[in-house]
Amino acid sequence: MWAEVSEIFESVQGEGIFVGVRQVFIRFAKCNLRCNYCDTPKEAEFCKDRINDVVLKNPVSVEYVSELIESVRVHSVSLTGGEPLIYADFIRKLKKSKPFYLESNMSLPENAKKIKGLVDIVAGDFKVRECLNGYDYDEIVDRTVRCFRILKNTKKRVTFCKIVLPAKFDMDEVISNAESVKDYVSCFVLQPVFGCENVKTLMDLQKRLMEFKDTRIVPQVHKYMGVR
Ligand code: SF4
Repeated sequence: MWAEVSEIFESVQGEGIFVGVRQVFIRFAKCNLRCNYCDTPKEAEFCKDRINDVVLKNPVSVEYVSELIESVRVHSVSLTGGEPLIYADFIRKLKKSKPFYLESNMSLPENAKKIKGLVDIVAGDFKVRECLNGYDYDEIVDRTVRCFRILKNTKKRVTFCKIVLPAKFDMDEVISNAESVKDYVSCFVLQPVFGCENVKTLMDLQKRLMEFKDTRIVPQVHKYMGVR
């Protein structure tokens, strides 16, 4: 089994409620969405293995990635992207020597089903309309709710919902979206798009979401630290 992976590296988790934990990041290439704030390259001819300092031609094998995961001492394995759920079949074949932390845009429910028994932590996005130009937003919302239902928070899995917020957004729509997944998540994380923090608006939104669920404001800490 093979997958297109753009890079593999060790760093600290810079987002969400596990901020600061040491992870090995498996950054898969390709994404099924095009968010207007995205700074992640989507295509990758090569995989940069920054742990062994080698560059491989894509695709890379599940055995190679499994061995790398086994070789590092970390809290968990961040399956990130791009969109890792594109590679659900590959993830199913990975040797699980560490807890799996899935970072997903939550828009591929059929693929989410394939790995629902495998992931220990889910950092799932709920995209706001303002970040997705040219999409059928209702369709995205429907798929997102289905993904959260499949990968919901349980005694064995921590699932939280991350909402990346641009400078301007429809607060009522964000609240309505959040209500539709509130029973599937442990909490909400409001993450401002890097560089456009609107603290007052974020705190107003936090107060309203707190009426039905724990909600935290967590900016991207790794960018302040200047690390990957
Ligand atoms: S879902 Fe993530 S990787 Fe895909 S376009 Fe949006 S921000 Fe970029």
